[in-house]
Amino acid sequence: MFAPQAVKELEKKLGTEKILTSKEDLVCYSYDATSYSHLPDVIAIVNNAKEVSEVMKIASKYKVPVIPRGGGTNLCGGTIPVKGGIILDLAKMDKILEIDTENLAAVCQPGVITAELHKAVEKVGLFYPPDPQSMAMSTIGGNVASNAGGPRCFKYGVTRDYLLGLEVVLANGKVIRTGGKTIKNVSGYDLSLMF
Ligand SMILES: Cc1cc2nc3c(=O)[nH]c(=O)nc-3n(C[C@H](O)[C@H](O)[C@H](O)COP(=O)(O)OP(=O)(O)OC[C@H]3O[C@@H](n4cnc5c(N)ncnc54)[C@H](O)[C@@H]3O)c2cc1C
Repeated sequence: MFAPQAVKELEKKLGTEKILTSKEDLVCYSYDATSYSHLPDVIAIVNNAKEVSEVMKIASKYKVPVIPRGGGTNLCGGTIPVKGGIILDLAKMDKILEIDTENLAAVCQPGVITAELHKAVEKVGLFYPPDPQSMAMSTIGGNVASNAGGPRCFKYGVTRDYLLGLEVVLANGKVIRTGGKTIKNVSGYDLSLMF
């Protein structure tokens, strides 16, 4: 049973306009590209890592599931809230923060649409190969989480091969960073590949 107090706390931290609970909204977030569906209890729309952290802290306090959602194009039921809980809508975190031509690296928020990253790097003469065929709708965060690949990946490798670092919000709300702009920068476990 979802605690109504958790919704109140979410509204207090993020603002009521970012917390959706109407039946119409819940239905919109109840499915992905599979033929299954299940209603979540609440949607939290986030704009930055701090807000993700606040959502995780509240979810952890009330022990409710959190389901991150990018474009919702996955074909494996990954964004279906089978036990209800909070849908964490990351689609508004859609900024490409930096394209570093010297290090051949881009810094993206998770909601950046894959095809938008393609276009942006191609403008400066670079090439980002991973091309899931959902690239007009899928997000970089979803691509990373599902290690997406497409036809070009037979030659150039999949998303994981291009992942240099991550900003990660842990289940307790703590924010950590892994990796960096270089291919090799750890002497121990490569945490970017473990998330
Ligand atoms: C028409 C079509 C064609 C497709 N073609 C391909 C293809 O060629 N290759 C391929 O690999 N896949 C393909 N897919 C599947 C899908 O598009 C990919 O898996 C894509 O990477 C999902 O991205 P998304 O933003 O839609 O993620 P979502 O569907 O929103 O989420 C996918 C999973 O990642 C998690 N997630 C999403 N964002 C985050 C985040 N920021 N942090 C942590 N977890 C997160 C979700 O909880 C979920 O488990 C296709 C799908 C469709 C509908």
